[in-house]
Amino acid sequence: MVEMEAGMRARTGGWQEVGERVFARRYRFLDQEIGAILTAAGPVVIDTRSTVGHAREVLADLRELTHQPVAAVIDTHHHFDHTYGNHEFRPAPIWGHLRCAQRIQHVVDDPAAHAANRAEVAEEYPRIADELADVVPDPPDRTVGDEGADIEIGGRRLELRWLGRGHTDNDLVIRVPDASVVFTGDLLENGAPPWTGDGYPLDWPVTTEAILALTLGPVPVAVVPGHGAVGDRAFVERSLAELRTMADLGRRLEAQEIDLAEALAAAPWPADIARETLERALAQLNGDLD
Ligand SMILES: [Zn+2]
Repeated sequence: MVEMEAGMRARTGGWQEVGERVFARRYRFLDQEIGAILTAAGPVVIDTRSTVGHAREVLADLRELTHQPVAAVIDTHHHFDHTYGNHEFRPAPIWGHLRCAQRIQHVVDDPAAHAANRAEVAEEYPRIADELADVVPDPPDRTVGDEGADIEIGGRRLELRWLGRGHTDNDLVIRVPDASVVFTGDLLENGAPPWTGDGYPLDWPVTTEAILALTLGPVPVAVVPGHGAVGDRAFVERSLAELRTMADLGRRLEAQEIDLAEALAAAPWPADIARETLERALAQLNGDLD
């Protein structure tokens, strides 16, 4: 079934076509966006969700687009909601940043660490607690370093870019040059502040400037965030402004030009998230995160 929405491309079932044969699907749990890039060799899936059931749901939903098996997976970063479903997509190769692979390999090698990670997720998201026992950690086997990589799958070129530290130290941005689409992972979230608990608030604005540069050109670029609605260049600009404000508040707090209450009052984000971000900024300024 194909229906049109004003100002948007066709929808195919629950998938939104954000560029030529490039789709995004928004899942209710964590308001997450999953990508599907169609190629002659089969679909390339971006991120694999949080549970075995979630991953199988993606695999079933892909059949609205194609009956070919998955050609490859790309993990945007190591967080559970982007990689816990990995194993269900085998035997497809899985691409990811080297540090993403190392983090997941660490819990393969140390089941106690995996149990601790799952317990943390279960505590925060009781709804999926029962399903986490089935998660098999499965790291990317095709790794990309800080220099990035251009790969070709089924006649389509995909640019995997590490643009700097931000949401984590292993965020990959995926550009589909023949479709004017950029997948940003959780470097950007639309409609909510990003999660900053593993973040690098001082680097994040610079990294986001590099994303903004990918949206330049005569053709509007669709920007698919890790969570929230698909955006455009203006969405990246708004996010950049907020991230710059947070980095600036962190620097002024460290220099004792303002106190914490003033910083929180000036922050564009809710106090709990702003406080966590400022703590990470101070840790960065103290050299604790290097
Ligand atoms: Zn994340």
